[in-house]
Amino acid sequence: MSLYENLVTQTQMNYSRYYSLYAAGKTPYELSKKEPLPYKEQIQNFAQQVKDAQCIIVGGASGLSAAGGGDFYYEDNASYRKYFGKFAEKYGFNGAFAGMMHQFDTREEHWGYLATFLHTTQTAEARKPYLDLDAIIKGKDFHILTTNQDTQFMKLYEEEQVSEIQGDHRFFQCSKQCCDETWDAVKPVEEMIAAMGEGTKVPSELIPRCPHCGAEMFPWVRGYGNFLQGTKYDRQYQKISDYVQTHGKEKMLLIELGVGRMTPMFIQEPFWNLTLSLPDVYYIGVNDKYAFLPQQIEDKGMIMVSNIADVLADVRKEIESEKTDYSRKTVTMGK
Ligand SMILES: [Zn+2]
Repeated sequence: MSLYENLVTQTQMNYSRYYSLYAAGKTPYELSKKEPLPYKEQIQNFAQQVKDAQCIIVGGASGLSAAGGGDFYYEDNASYRKYFGKFAEKYGFNGAFAGMMHQFDTREEHWGYLATFLHTTQTAEARKPYLDLDAIIKGKDFHILTTNQDTQFMKLYEEEQVSEIQGDHRFFQCSKQCCDETWDAVKPVEEMIAAMGEGTKVPSELIPRCPHCGAEMFPWVRGYGNFLQGTKYDRQYQKISDYVQTHGKEKMLLIELGVGRMTPMFIQEPFWNLTLSLPDVYYIGVNDKYAFLPQQIEDKGMIMVSNIADVLADVRKEIESEKTDYSRKTVTMGK
């Protein structure tokens, strides 16, 4: 098992053991009692840590996408209506995931919904918080780890720079997991959307099927009980593990963005463990609700309870204004 998957497995056991605590929005870790810095100083510290780091690992979770307008998963709001309007009216779903759990009368209607869901994320532009983050880490040596399946990071980076440990909407797998293969989902989704038009069903012949066993394909994502944890999955964990192993002795910054309380085992707790065990790590967590910073790492990190979109925009401003000041000084000195 790779280094990072091993970290996840360990924290997963912790999660099962203390499940009721986690379910109540708490954590079994002893938390820091230090007063947080004022917001402005937190932003300055964030910018300084980026500047000082030799390498950066960003852990992007659901709160990051939600902050950028990808907030249609769990509620019936304006953005849900924008993309899923005809299904919202017909079924009254409370967000995109509710529709994914619905038993549609026909497979054609089921795929009409599924194709709409995938098409929405596949074709979305990279959103503002992602662009701000990109400006912040520009020029640094970095790796991205994400539990988001919406492919936002893939609109900005090469496959090798991103570990997508919970799957990716651009790929299909066999729903029955009969083989260790994944297939492109972008073109078939485009065809289904075009054929569906204003309706809510796709033609039967466009329903994608496994070429080996004939079962329907399914998006390559965790969450529905049939996630294919084969070669592609192992590769994701290998990328992040290799990065940690190669850069483990350097001055490293870990940036955790938007981890929810139900999934601390993929980014948050492994990041805490790395902060503790590697020689020179600084940890920054940004979360809109929970001020969780373990006491054991309180001198090696900071937690910001703030709106993620605002934080990334402000850190970007801070870093870019420093860059401007620097170049101005250089010009003056040359005279
Ligand atoms: Zn199959």
